[in-house]
Amino acid sequence: MPAERAPDAARDTAPGITCAGLSRSFGTGAARIDALAPVDLHLEGGKTTAFVGPSGCGKSTLLRLIAGLDRPSEGTVRIGGETPLEMRRRAALAVAFQDAALLPWRSVRGNIALARKLARMRPDPAKVDDLIATVGLAGFEDRRPADLSGGMRQRAAIARCLATDPQLLLLDEPFGAVDELTRARLNQELPALWQARGVTAVMITHSISEAVRIADRVVVLSPRPARVVADIAVPLAHPREKGPALEALIEEVGAALARHAPAPPPARPPAARIAS
Ligand code: ADP
Ligand code: MG
Repeated sequence: MPAERAPDAARDTAPGITCAGLSRSFGTGAARIDALAPVDLHLEGGKTTAFVGPSGCGKSTLLRLIAGLDRPSEGTVRIGGETPLEMRRRAALAVAFQDAALLPWRSVRGNIALARKLARMRPDPAKVDDLIATVGLAGFEDRRPADLSGGMRQRAAIARCLATDPQLLLLDEPFGAVDELTRARLNQELPALWQARGVTAVMITHSISEAVRIADRVVVLSPRPARVVADIAVPLAHPREKGPALEALIEEVGAALARHAPAPPPARPPAARIAS
């Protein structure tokens, strides 16, 4: 039987991610905080996986370990057989955070070009301007970040990530700092760019509907220390319009989160309530 062909060539090279017994604790003794319970997980190459979980549960900790920005207490991360540091060294991995973290004194063009320079890649002004246009910022090439809206800064941040042709894109609440309407537009436009390139992507988000709209798979994490409590495939074609299939998945992810919601704070005694 012939091997199944991947839908495009880049997908063949997009690496999968394997976390084995991965855990992270901070501090020692009574002050010790377990941020990540041992996590065993394989994320398929060329797919977008979203992690959702309550605030403070350990999502960013997990992403930083995959990015090689932090070291695990136990366990390993392998990205297509390489360590995260090896991936970083050859600039095959790009990270974007909630605040776009663009250099304020550089233009949009300058920020994006810098990503290639830092990765020791040859300058490619045509590619940079192409990317700027692709993310919808044509005409803003020479503007500085302070002259852009939050949504435009996130567009620039995604362009900067893509400028080095990464195989792996790690996104920590990339659309968390923009208003709802802008977020909905970015949700429709930007993921399509990395998905068309067959990049493996891991995205952290607070928003259940964002996760289900964008990702091929949604992994639900428990309150701290984070462990996987649900793993839900999203077998819907893009672009994903509102409808019963999407709603059912939003419901399923929401139910998994609710089942493992952090305990509510203890009720105040009646006397305190009267006094306040
Ligand atoms: P999330 O991204 O899910 O909101 P984080 O992964 O940022 O959560 O943090 C998980 C827990 O680990 C939090 O209690 C946080 O205070 C703690 N933590 C994260 N990084 C550090 C650190 N460098 N030193 C000490 N504690 C940390
Ligand atoms: Mg976080």
